[in-house]
Amino acid sequence: MSFVEYSEEIREGDVAIVYLGHESMMPVKVRHGAQTQTRYGAIRHSADLIGKRYGAKVTCSKGGWVHVLHPTPELWTVTLPHRTQILYTTDIATITLMLELKPGSVVCESGTGSGSLSHAILRSIAPTGHLHTVEFHQQRAQIAKEEFAEHRVDHLVTVSNADVCKDGFGVAGVADAVFLDIPSPWEAVPHAKAALKSHGGRVCSFSPCMEQAQKTCEALLALNFEEINTLEVVLRVHEVRTVSMPLADFGADFGPPAPPLPAVTLKTTTPPREMAAHTGYLTFATKPRTRIV
Ligand code: SAH
Repeated sequence: MSFVEYSEEIREGDVAIVYLGHESMMPVKVRHGAQTQTRYGAIRHSADLIGKRYGAKVTCSKGGWVHVLHPTPELWTVTLPHRTQILYTTDIATITLMLELKPGSVVCESGTGSGSLSHAILRSIAPTGHLHTVEFHQQRAQIAKEEFAEHRVDHLVTVSNADVCKDGFGVAGVADAVFLDIPSPWEAVPHAKAALKSHGGRVCSFSPCMEQAQKTCEALLALNFEEINTLEVVLRVHEVRTVSMPLADFGADFGPPAPPLPAVTLKTTTPPREMAAHTGYLTFATKPRTRIV
């Protein structure tokens, strides 16, 4: 198992995702002799997991069953232990697309936080890219390092414990893309520029407040970044419902009114009346190619 490569079989040392139904999931470290308690009873790792195929249905000790899934960045985002606020898949999808990440890309990121975005970046840039991620909270940096090793992606990532606003990313002229998720991203913009390749690259900064996005845009503009854009990604899920309603009667052109039309049963969709939509503003910009004159 690795978070960037699929394997068929569950092995000792893997991190598997136990799917309990109704979108309820938990990550499990697979260990010989260990047991995991679920509401359907215990899962015995040696007997029930090791040697089974990913996707298998496993019967727990109380007779209920679960499915054991291969980990992916998307499943990790919804099951990981939170040490900070994290980015979710709706924003992550736009970030990886707009930063033009692909196998081989070199990326700088700060802060690492709980590593939710980092795992998605790693899957996009594997097997030959590299992520330089900077986190100034010592314990968070350490835990992220340990998780990357457990998830067998540590060869693709360097974790640094530093203040990105003071010390930068620790690399210069190598990055295809830089991502910022820190309270004062404008202070890190000069470091982002220094980390990017001389022939240009993309930057993205995530901020919950518009004032932060404004300051970041000003800093980007002052350093001659181009194509500066701030956007917000709002996911609006429509509910499908079956309703019964009379067909519309637009009236006859001539003559007496027609009798009412019978009710029909229709499938219709409704958007939510209220939704918790705002996560943050995503500011993107391009570092232009250095012109040789
Ligand atoms: N994007 C991450 C969450 C980042 S939370 C995820 O998806 O999991 C923001 C993180 O930035 C916090 O862990 C915080 O400690 C770190 N941070 C804040 N300011 C920083 C700075 N100046 N340098 C490095 N890390 C910083």
